[in-house]
Amino acid sequence: QAEAAIRQADVVIFVTSARDGPLGPEVSISDQLRRSEKPVLLTVNKADSPGDRLRATDFWELGLDEPHCISSTQGTGIGDLLDLVAERLPPPVETEAVDEDEVSVAIVGRPNVGKSSLLNAIVGEERAIVNEMAGTTRDAVDTPMERDGKRLLLIDTAGIRRRGRVSRGVETYSVLRAMRAIERAEVAVVVIDADDGVTAQDTHVAGYVHEAAKGCIIAVNKWDLVPRSPDAGAKYLAATRRDLAFLDYAPVVFISAKSGLNVGKMLDRVLAVAEERKRRIPTAQVNELVRQALAAHPHTERGKLLKVLYVTQASTNPPTFVFFVNDPELVHFSYRRYLENQIRRAFGFDGTGIRTVFRGRGDE
Ligand code: GDP
Repeated sequence: QAEAAIRQADVVIFVTSARDGPLGPEVSISDQLRRSEKPVLLTVNKADSPGDRLRATDFWELGLDEPHCISSTQGTGIGDLLDLVAERLPPPVETEAVDEDEVSVAIVGRPNVGKSSLLNAIVGEERAIVNEMAGTTRDAVDTPMERDGKRLLLIDTAGIRRRGRVSRGVETYSVLRAMRAIERAEVAVVVIDADDGVTAQDTHVAGYVHEAAKGCIIAVNKWDLVPRSPDAGAKYLAATRRDLAFLDYAPVVFISAKSGLNVGKMLDRVLAVAEERKRRIPTAQVNELVRQALAAHPHTERGKLLKVLYVTQASTNPPTFVFFVNDPELVHFSYRRYLENQIRRAFGFDGTGIRTVFRGRGDE
């Protein structure tokens, strides 16, 4: 059984016990692992005390590289172990020709806010790239382009360009299409009409971007129609922030698709947000932050105290943090929000949604 498991694995975690020392079975399993030529992480479990950790040095004799001390019951060393596993994983198998350096962008918003005009302004300003190769997996409805040597992919531009009066059925379809575009994009530009302010439909679209943990730019369009006054910017910014409070991390830009005002600046924000999504915070730093956050505001639910055993940033794009806790049921919306805010305050992630996942001990 172990042999079959090793064959199928990309990385093998070999679990031994600090209490029992390396015994005969450990020696023969080590031989087997060396023959497999798979990356092996030798872990010495039950290393609860300094004495246990000292005994772990005996495991060097297995010839499997450095023994890593962990305590599964106390949760120590697990975050570091996960980092080591992640380092040793082979590159993911590409199902699609995904281009790492290309930033995919969806322009979304309700009808008539100026999506098509914005698209034209962008394509007018930047260099649109012709699909180099026939038969690439890239969708024909997308438009690749370049800005300052950086590549962007405007998602489903065919869907944006489609104009004219639409019947109710078609309109429903266009909402689904926008949702799919958001799904495929890393960053969504939510276009709002300055004249109308934030409507219920805008909130709905923006909510979807937030739920999907995408990067987000709020573009208040038709800024050319707003009468000039010294406090116009501050007034509109405050109203937008109030109406889209859940997107408090998203930059707001005032643009005119018609005149091209700030369209370039908006694209720079898109690229900056895409960069933020790729950041990775070392496990030790996240744990220290969360430890402080819990100490500052301990959370109790039905008399039970929330304990976080460890946290790790499991992935990027979107930045995803996995919390191993004593009981995931204790984590409610507001506390999740609190932890997210603390992470943002310490590490940034400006303009992008982040995901937090809570797992109980049993889920490990
Ligand atoms: P879409 O349905 O979201 O694609 O919106 P369109 O791009 O078709 O724009 C709807 C209307 O708003 C058109 O009449 C545009 O000319 C107008 N419009 C779009 N952007 C601007 C802008 O920045 N300023 C002004 N004044 N009008 C705009």
